[in-house]
Amino acid sequence: MSFGENNNDKSSRRDFLKKAAAMGLGTAVSGAALGRPGRASAQITLPKGQIPRRPFGRSDILVSTLSLGGMFDILNNRLMLAKALEWGIDYWDTAEGYGGGRSEEGIGRWFARNPETRKRVFLVSKLSLRRGTDFTPRLEACLKRLHTDYIDLLFVHGISAVDEMDPGLESWSRAMKKAGKLRLFGFSTHANMEDCLDGAARLPWIDGIMFSYNFRLMHEPRMKAAVEACYRAGIGLTAMKTQGGGPIKSDSESEIKMAGRFMQKGFTDHQAKLMAVWEDNRIASICSQMPNLTIMATNAAAAVDHPRLSRSDRALLAQYADETYSDYCAGCGRLCSQALGNSVPINDIMRCLMYIHSYQDLTLARSAFEMLPVQTRVLLTQLDFKKAEQSCPRNLPIGRMMQEATHLLA
Ligand code: SF4
Repeated sequence: MSFGENNNDKSSRRDFLKKAAAMGLGTAVSGAALGRPGRASAQITLPKGQIPRRPFGRSDILVSTLSLGGMFDILNNRLMLAKALEWGIDYWDTAEGYGGGRSEEGIGRWFARNPETRKRVFLVSKLSLRRGTDFTPRLEACLKRLHTDYIDLLFVHGISAVDEMDPGLESWSRAMKKAGKLRLFGFSTHANMEDCLDGAARLPWIDGIMFSYNFRLMHEPRMKAAVEACYRAGIGLTAMKTQGGGPIKSDSESEIKMAGRFMQKGFTDHQAKLMAVWEDNRIASICSQMPNLTIMATNAAAAVDHPRLSRSDRALLAQYADETYSDYCAGCGRLCSQALGNSVPINDIMRCLMYIHSYQDLTLARSAFEMLPVQTRVLLTQLDFKKAEQSCPRNLPIGRMMQEATHLLA
């Protein structure tokens, strides 16, 4: 599609396309309406059937290919949980740290009122090693908040090296499984994902992994090999951060072209990015943050009805990934953090900036930032980040971005 307009027109079209994508107007906006944003109708796309299911690794459990991420105010959103079950989104993801426990409490309140639904839900929660190794009492506290006797899959939250999954955790997880409190055990990671997956493929007691995986990362040779190794080892794989948003606000021409092109085909670029991941059958499910019904309906419709992406659709996504290569942090923190003697987890701070620029969620960014030790936050204002910048394969302006994080979040 060629747009022959001036810069103001371009920016209003970009804003319109982004808003439409965020609202899920993909199938409700005609090609003609693209030229006249005011005429777009605000019709929400609803899924026409149940979400497909896939086996979760070597377990005999089938999970919905779309999973409900629990980083929203579940306590006040019972309708979301009811609709999720109605549409077949019965893989629910939460963590002890989400909303200071309110996410788990919200799910627990649902189960207290609807106990018959507990067995239908594949329930995932997470415990972070950063809060300490006292997992047994904290798991008990999770179970209490969730109003359940067991968790289907427990992740160690956000590891950045596989040796964090030490033999002590192996025996602890075996004991908890024996006691009937867990069915499956594993970890989540958005740092050094390839190394973590590679290592996990050699650990027969890892049942599942949730990791950053999207149209940008899925074509990297090391990532491809690591996913294949886990898949062959029978580890259930859940993709997250599938929109591939970065810590820098992208302003790419191919984004406009891509959004317009996908809308003409009846879906949004947001949906296309989900489809790209679903086309990899080794991925059991996509965990998506869906803070409202409109976004959940849009994602569910894509899961149920999506056509296969064509070669040119994939080329558009690849072009966009190329143009915004240096706006995206790939989580390879072992490179930049090691350059500074591992004094600052740079990729964690990049993730905080991503929550601001891609999710537009300052509260989430602040709560992730506050999880960092005080000493780390102080170091951000003192260190020279030149060596880290030299080690970054994507040439991210790390020093400037650490300053920005301090300014916005400290
Ligand atoms: S800042 Fe660069 S080196 Fe560091 S994690 Fe991000 S992409 Fe990798």
